Amino acid sequence: MIPSQIAYQKPESLEEALNCVGDLGDMCKILAGGHSLIPVMKLRLADPENLVDITGIPGLKEISDAGDSISIGACATHADIANSRPIHSAAPMVSKAASMIGDIQVRNFGTIGGSIAHADPSADWPAVLLAADASINMQSRSGSRSVKASEFFLGLFMTALQTGEIITSIDIPKSAANANSNYEKFAQPASRFALVGCAVAADNSGDALADVRVAFNGVSATPFRDGGVESALTGSGLNDESISAACGVAADGVDVMSDHFASSAYRKSMAAVFAKRALKGLS
Ligand SMILES: Cc1cc2nc3c(=O)[nH]c(=O)nc-3n(C[C@H](O)[C@H](O)[C@H](O)COP(=O)(O)OP(=O)(O)OC[C@H]3O[C@@H](n4cnc5c(N)ncnc54)[C@H](O)[C@@H]3O)c2cc1C
Repeated sequence: MIPSQIAYQKPESLEEALNCVGDLGDMCKILAGGHSLIPVMKLRLADPENLVDITGIPGLKEISDAGDSISIGACATHADIANSRPIHSAAPMVSKAASMIGDIQVRNFGTIGGSIAHADPSADWPAVLLAADASINMQSRSGSRSVKASEFFLGLFMTALQTGEIITSIDIPKSAANANSNYEKFAQPASRFALVGCAVAADNSGDALADVRVAFNGVSATPFRDGGVESALTGSGLNDESISAACGVAADGVDVMSDHFASSAYRKSMAAVFAKRALKGLS
């Protein structure tokens, strides 16, 4: 491969990075772990003139307890997240998903911010962040904003992120549902990307299930919450009958993807299987 000329910058503060991406606009790409961007550049699907490496910015890697939520810095790696105790107790599906991404090299380099900015339909984070009702915090030099995961993922490799913005952190609410959550995936055997991934969270502290959230990735071009499965479970007990009945409608009405790994019919049936496995892991 003969690469084209690229200017490389590694800002030491968020302010400096925001000025770089603000000045360069579409001529630059933000570089985090490089595990999606570099392959895309090798394929010439992206040909930026400048790379702005954000991995040296203090604070962007931090995972902290913010009281009613856990804040995960955008440059936290999948391995950092998998090994975080506060995340494991607040939302076990988040640590479990992190531990299932790729292989150890990918987990040590790839970041949560890079993954969600890339928005691969088979990536693990989107369904988990939807089921967690997470918020994504972004900053540009003109200000900051926060959007719910449900408004962030817009389509195949498309998000609400705008030119000049950097994802700074992700907030995972501390809720009864997130504390009782699980993630299961049917992994592509080589890459470990999800042919089907299902994240579930539900408050089971009362007489019946409440605040039920069931989300899929790998199934359609855009990750989604499955309202049919959620309504079927809400108000019922968590048992084999309720889980089987609810999973019978998994991915109903969804435009299910088909590719050389799995047909749409197979993916849809696997959506039911993996939703069932994920729900059976709840207490
Ligand atoms: C062999 C292999 C196996 C993999 N398996 C899996 C898997 O099983 N599951 C899975 O989910 N993923 C998997 N991945 C993808 C991996 O998780 C990547 O790390 C992730 O998709 C991208 O994160 P990154 O930090 O490397 O981002 P980069 O590649 O550096 O960047 C990706 C994109 O995000 C932008 N970006 C990066 N950070 C920010 C930010 N903070 N704000 C705004 N934009 C930003 C970049 O400009 C670029 O467009 C795999 C990758 C490889 C190479």
